[in-house]
Parts: sequence; C-alpha cells; structure tokens
Amino acid sequence: MPGFTPGRRWQPPYSPFKREPFNRRALASLEKAIKGPLFGCRMCGNCLLQETAFICPMECPKGLRNGPCGGATSEYCYVDETRPCIWYKIYERSFTMGREHRLLEVLPPLDWEKAGTETWGDVFTRIKEIGIGKVVTGLLFKPASVRNVMWESIFKPVRQPDWWQGDDQYHAPKYSETVSELERRLKAGEFVVTAEVAPPLSAKTDKMFRNIEAVKPYVAAINFTDNPSATPRTASWACSVMVIKQGAEPVMQIAARDRTRVGLQSEVLGAYDLGIRNIFCVSGDSMKMAPAPRGRMDIVDIDSVQMLWILRRMRDEGKYMDGREMKTPPRYFLGAAASPFASEPKFQALREHKKIDAGAQFFQTNLVFDVDLMEIWLNELAKRNILDKVYILIGITPLKTLKMAKYMNNEVPGVTVPDSIMKRMEEADKAGNAQEEGVAIALELIAKIKKFSGQGVSGLHIMPVGWEEVVPRIVSEGGVLPKGFVAPAPKV
Ligand code: SF4
Repeated sequence: MPGFTPGRRWQPPYSPFKREPFNRRALASLEKAIKGPLFGCRMCGNCLLQETAFICPMECPKGLRNGPCGGATSEYCYVDETRPCIWYKIYERSFTMGREHRLLEVLPPLDWEKAGTETWGDVFTRIKEIGIGKVVTGLLFKPASVRNVMWESIFKPVRQPDWWQGDDQYHAPKYSETVSELERRLKAGEFVVTAEVAPPLSAKTDKMFRNIEAVKPYVAAINFTDNPSATPRTASWACSVMVIKQGAEPVMQIAARDRTRVGLQSEVLGAYDLGIRNIFCVSGDSMKMAPAPRGRMDIVDIDSVQMLWILRRMRDEGKYMDGREMKTPPRYFLGAAASPFASEPKFQALREHKKIDAGAQFFQTNLVFDVDLMEIWLNELAKRNILDKVYILIGITPLKTLKMAKYMNNEVPGVTVPDSIMKRMEEADKAGNAQEEGVAIALELIAKIKKFSGQGVSGLHIMPVGWEEVVPRIVSEGGVLPKGFVAPAPKV
C-alpha cells in the first residue's frame, strides 16, 4: 500500500457543514487520523482514492478531481510553486503501478453536504448490503478477477452516486444533424480555422466589432475567452450574441473557475436560447493570476471534465446533473482545451482521452511552437485510438515582439518557445522587424502543421492576443482560406 506522497503540502481537512452525531464524529476522527498521514486525505467525504493511486487529489489548489490543469508541470504546481503538482504525482504513480486506466473514469463533483464527514460509514453500509461473509470470502479466498469485481462492487457505488454514474467509456453524440457551421465544416473534412477576438475591457464595443468584421470572412467561428487571467472582461456569452448579430458564428468559452453547478446549467440553457451552439469548456486560469484582491484560489465547484459530462448528458440524455429530466434538451457542439506540452505527452494524452470520453468533440490546443513535439503528442493520442473521435485545431499565435515571445515562454503555463525561435526573435528585434519575423514563423509553423491534415489535425486555432488585424494575412498567406471564401469588399 503506497503511503505518504513525496513533497506533499499538508493542508487542513474540511469540517462538516453541520454537527454530526457522536458515532459519526468518532468514525470521522479515526478516518482522518489514518488516511491523513497515509494518503494526504482532506476528508472531502466523497472519497475516490481508489481511482487516484491512493493520493488525495484535494491537495490540488484548484480542487480538480479529474486530472491536471493545463499549467501542470513535472516540477511544481503553477498556482503554488512551493509544492509539486499533485496530479503529476497521481499520474506518475498510476503509470508506475499500472493503474493508469483507472484515471479515465469521470468522477463527480463534491457533494458538499458530505464534506468533512467520514466515507467509511458508506463503505460499511455497502459491505452489509452485499453480506459480510460474501465480502470476506470474495476478497480473501477467490482469484484476482473475482476479488476485483468484489472490490468494485463495494467502492464504485460509494464514489459514483446515482445522480452522476460516471464511467470510463466513450459516448458517441446521440444526434445526426450537425448543430453548428463549425461542426458541419469539420464533419465535411475541411481544414478549418477559428480565431479568438478579445472581449472588450470596458463598455465600449466598437473595437471588438471592427475586429469581428475583419476576421469573420477568414474563419469558421470566432472564440470569445471567458475572463482570461481571471481578469474581468465583457462576458463571453454577450460577445457571442453580438457576433451572431454580425453574421458570424461564435465559440462561447466557459470557465469552471467562475461557475457553480447551478450557474453552469442555467447559463448554457440560456446560451442555447440565444442561438449559441459551440461551447468550449475550460477550468480557467487560477484566481492567482487575477489582480489583487483575489477571490478564493483553493477550489472550483466543477472542473472542465465534469462540465463536459454535465453538458453531454443534458444534450444526449435530456437530464440535469441532479438527474431531473428536461422536456426539450439543448443541442451543443462541445469543445475543450488540449495542452500537448504541459507535462509528459503520455500524461497529456490520457487527460485528452478522458475529456473525449466525457463529451469533448473538438479540441483547440494551447500554443504550438514545436511541431516535432506536437507529433509526439499526436502519436500518443493515436496509441489510444481516439483521433477519430475528436477534431483537433492546433493553437497558433504570431509573435509580435521579443517581449511577447519571452512572456509566452516564461509565464504562460504549458507553452514552450524553442531556442531557435527565440534567437530569431532576438535578432529580428535588434533589426527592428520583430513583427515580420513573428508572422514568418507563424506561416512556417502552419506549413508544417498542414502536413498533419487527415492524420489527426483538422485545422488551426489562431490566438492573436490583441493583434486581430493580422488574422486575414495569416490565413491568406498560410493557404488556409475557408472553402467558398469570398474576399471582403475593399474599404473606400
Ligand atoms: S492547480 Fe494545476 S498544477 Fe496545481 S496541483 Fe492542481 S492540476 Fe497541478
């Protein structure tokens, strides 16, 4: 039985919401005294240690229960650099123990009513239901296959309550007609380009409208980020509605950081009513990146995998998260972020696999500056036989300045700018033509990425970081104009 997690940070356990009866408090104290030192248990009351190689994931400052965020590294947690990424430790140990397949099961969000209480009571109840004699015989005197079934029949109902029922299987979308133009183009096999337009930082929207006008003929859909760097901007749903009125298709990004389970379900239903069909689920940048004073940094109510699972079930099963049925389910094309370089490619591939099983139909990746490394990640996805279950749009940004290149390399989680590109940007900066060099680098990357069209890559996602006017040039000179492209009339 593995014990203490190396380098772990001791964190206080949760307290129960209400005063529990004496016998439950006594059991909780015993559980805490044993599981705390052994597993880093924080007494969330919704134990899933079986699935996480016996390391409590509640040590993650974001409270993620389904895998690492895009900022995870092998060295440290990006939210708190004084500790290791606990999810990296969980992945490392799971692969060492040959338990990595268990990381695919989609785990539920906390039932907060249980936080701070014991889980052992639920386990004992389950053992009594099965029959103590049967359990003892099944665990002690039967072959490994029977033992595993017995073990699962005790623990699975504890970690997968009726209202969630997560599993480790792929669930194909239960609709045949495409729900958005983006989906239609991808399904038709087009090499698709999407781009981000920054939501306004104030009540003035004219710059965003100009950017939308400039970008829209060149892309299949326009993404609106949801408070990037945990800094307030105009809401993604509002920008999405504005872009629909301008005759383009939005991808509404929605960050778990700013949502509760209730808020999420309410918001996506409203978004559907407003005509939004592409929804992109992310956990969101940590509150640590926000301007001070900061909000809670230690927990999210739901993570991006859970968001995908909730939205997919709303769409395909017509059910709210709590199991209530809805008469007319919404239809969404669901996207998620993929981060090829955050940690080891095989870890990242497992993470993307889980998102696909949960409901992701397309990925827009973090920025790619090294196509060789991207290929290694694609190969890991191929080994998992999941490339035909998702459309992958590779993230590209034209570097505008040397400062931006350094920022991307040093500050943006999961992004690495190779030395060769950094050197080119340094020389171009000295010569005063950094922008041109940045565009040239982006075009070279696009030429290389295009070679993977049909081998897992379905297009590009351009993140111009406030330089939206460059998008038409990148798309035209990169030879990735949309099918049926009509050039906009020249301005007079
Ligand atoms: S916040 Fe991200 S980097 Fe930090 S422990 Fe959680 S998953 Fe790892």
